[in-house]
Amino acid sequence: MVEDQSASKMRVSVHFTKEELQCPCCGLFEFTPGTIVKIEMIRRGYGKPMPINSGTRCKARNTKVGGSKTSFHMKSLAIDVECSSSYDKFDLVREAIAKKANGIVVYDWGIHIDFGDRPRNMLKKG
Ligand SMILES: [Zn+2]
Repeated sequence: MVEDQSASKMRVSVHFTKEELQCPCCGLFEFTPGTIVKIEMIRRGYGKPMPINSGTRCKARNTKVGGSKTSFHMKSLAIDVECSSSYDKFDLVREAIAKKANGIVVYDWGIHIDFGDRPRNMLKKG
């Protein structure tokens, strides 16, 4: 068996690789170990795969995908997770709140979770 040793496939936690969480256009990755731990704890509580639609975004990428100008994706403080049902969305929101996410946005395709610095935590519809 040949191990894949490319840096982008590097595992940053039990369930996540650097490739999933870095900017797809330039590889930018500034997730701190503390944020990775929070994401991994959410994954464990959720108990299901968490397909990452968007992790880190450089400024150019954020503009391209229409992200907010102050998006926490640009600071590696946010993930967008694809969910296939409302049940999954509910479970993921519950776990994100339990693990002290500061920002949660519910979209048609899934859930945005962030650990940004906000005056108070937020749960809203996108
Ligand atoms: Zn980029």
